Amino acid sequence: MRILVKGSVIIAAMTLTLAVDIGGTHIRVAAYEPNSIAPIAHQRTKSLANTPGVYNRLVKAIESIWKEGQVSAIGIASPGPLDPHTGVILDTPNIPEWTNFPLTSKLSDHFGVPVHLDNDANMAGLAEWQYGAGKGHHDLVYLTISTGIGGGVISNDRLLQGFHGLGAELGHILIDPDGPQCGCGKNGHIEAFSSGPSIIRYFNEQQRDGQKSSLQPDPSLGTAQLAEAALTGDSLAISAFSRAGHYLGIAVANFLAIFDPSILVFGGGVSQVGDLLFKPFEKSLRMHVFHPHYLDDLIITKAGLGDDAGLLGALALARMKSNE
Ligand SMILES: [Zn+2]
Repeated sequence: MRILVKGSVIIAAMTLTLAVDIGGTHIRVAAYEPNSIAPIAHQRTKSLANTPGVYNRLVKAIESIWKEGQVSAIGIASPGPLDPHTGVILDTPNIPEWTNFPLTSKLSDHFGVPVHLDNDANMAGLAEWQYGAGKGHHDLVYLTISTGIGGGVISNDRLLQGFHGLGAELGHILIDPDGPQCGCGKNGHIEAFSSGPSIIRYFNEQQRDGQKSSLQPDPSLGTAQLAEAALTGDSLAISAFSRAGHYLGIAVANFLAIFDPSILVFGGGVSQVGDLLFKPFEKSLRMHVFHPHYLDDLIITKAGLGDDAGLLGALALARMKSNE
C-alpha cells in the first residue's frame, strides 16, 4: 500500500488489487499491495457450486477482505467457457446457475471498481509467466493435466485470448475423431487420452478385457495409486501412463508448430507422476514434431506456483488491465 503522509494525517491511496479464484469446491479471495505476490488478506470459503447462491457467497467472500477506498481493481479466475472481453460466463459445468451470467458487470456495479475475468487455465499460464516457472520468457505454453486438461499461451509477451476470448483451449485439440469421448462431449480430444480420468478409464477397460495387473479392480482408483503400481513394475499401469504420454507428445508437437514456445510449463496433479508420463511424452514429441529445431533450447518444466496459480493469474490480469 502506498501511504501519502500529509502532516499528521495518513491517507491510504487506492492501491490494493483483489484477486479471486473460483473453483468447484472453494472460492478464494486475496488482497495484494503493489509489486507484491504475498497477500495482506486471504479468505477461503466453500463454493457449494451445485447449490443456489454461488454469486452471493462470492460477494460475501470479497466483502470479508474489502478495504473501503483502497481497492483499485478486481481480477477473477473462473472455470469456463467464458468471454473475458465481455466478462460473461457462457456456461460452466461446475456452476449450473451461471449460464450467460454477466459476472464482471454485476461485481463492478456492486463494488464500484473495474473487474476483469478469464478462465482458470489461462490465468494459471499468465501467473506462471509473470511470477513462476516462466518468468522472463516471451513465448510460453502452459498445460495443466488433472481431471481435465487446460492450457494457457503467452505469445510475444501477450496472453492469447482470441476474438471470442476462447483462445488456447489446448485440452480440446483433436487427436483422433474416432477416439474416446472427451469431458466436453466430443470425441478424441487430447483430454480424452491423457487426463487423469482418461488414464484410469483406459486401465480399467484393459483390465476388464483380461489384461493382467497387480491391482484389484477398484471403481475409486486414482492416478496416484496407479503410479505406485507402475513404479513397482505393473506393466498395465506402466502402459496406461505411457499411452497418455504418447498422445500428449502428439498434442504438444501441434502446439510447437503453432506457438513455437521457448518454455513448456506443466501443472496439475497428473503431471506429478514424472517420468512415467514424461519419458514416453518426450519420445513421442521428438517423433512427431514438425522440425527438430523447435526442440533446441526448449525448456520443459513443472509449474512453480501450485494451488496459488489461479489466484496469482487473476492478480496479474487485474494489474495488466489497469496498466493498459
Ligand atoms: Zn474436449
